[in-house]
Amino acid sequence: FTLKLRKIGLFSRALASASFSRGFSNHGRRLEGKVALITGAASGIGKATAIKFVENGAKVVIADVQHELGEHTAKELGSSASFVACDVTQEADIARAINFTVSSYGQLDIMYNNAGVACRTAPSIADLDLDVFDRVMSINVRGIVAGIKHASHVMIPRKKGCILCTSSVTGIVGGMAQTTYSVSKSAVVGIVKSVSAELSKHGIRINCISPFAVPTPFMMGEMRKWYPGVEDDVIVKMVQDAGELKGANCEEIDVANAALYLASDEAKYVTAHNLVVDGGCTSIKSLRLPPPNRVTE
Ligand code: NAD
Repeated sequence: FTLKLRKIGLFSRALASASFSRGFSNHGRRLEGKVALITGAASGIGKATAIKFVENGAKVVIADVQHELGEHTAKELGSSASFVACDVTQEADIARAINFTVSSYGQLDIMYNNAGVACRTAPSIADLDLDVFDRVMSINVRGIVAGIKHASHVMIPRKKGCILCTSSVTGIVGGMAQTTYSVSKSAVVGIVKSVSAELSKHGIRINCISPFAVPTPFMMGEMRKWYPGVEDDVIVKMVQDAGELKGANCEEIDVANAALYLASDEAKYVTAHNLVVDGGCTSIKSLRLPPPNRVTE
């Protein structure tokens, strides 16, 4: 009996060490020793990702234009997180946020360009407001490019690093959002592909995540404008019902989990990828035919 127990013990130790060497088991803390900077992390997807990263052993710097909320979020996360004021449209702010991260924690391993805004523009391209277009591009596109540029200053000399960007399903399929927002998100996918060609030579990975609709403050703000007077819970249900995958809803945590995977060493050979977190919506085109009993001759 003792011999049998010893054999089981040896077998489970061998199994544990085999799975560890494949990178599957590091005591649940998949970002131990890493330092991340996340833009737009005062709320929503960025905040959920910051929480996930801290839970997995990372130090996290939250960079956002919402100073009070950003400070509050950092406090909520405890001693592994701090806040830096940063407007991604200002290149100097991004440079300062990266300097702050490196001087506070000694390095920058993960740069997550997540800040983004939506906009309410004319339904027709014929009436597109180009001033609004420029403003959205300055945050959703130029802000991301500036984040990549300044992260590369510290990552290229180290010959390692991981860059993430938030795109959207609206950047893949036309007609899911207003033109301006869709164009900005589709640009993010292009930026990632383009920049990865250079950064891969320096051992730096860059990927983006394209989520389906998540009822964050950003999404709810937009939906309230489209459906004035409609209760929030009705809007949330409407958004969730629009998903293709039944039995689950797209939540901040789903994007945070995707970011955790891409930021971790488990994704060490994944770059230039657009990880869709969309319940299949960009691949499925459901036929919305009327029920047979409603079809008249
Ligand atoms: P959110 O409003 O909760 O978070 C966005 C954060 O970005 C806010 O904290 C905001 O203050 C910050 N921000 C805005 N402009 C900024 C600027 N100039 N500089 C720095 N920070 C700025 O919304 P969210 O849904 O969590 O959005 C995060 C990202 O996810 C955005 O890029 C958005 O386009 C994208 N996205 C959202 C959804 C969705 O349905 N919620 C779906 C797909 C993609």
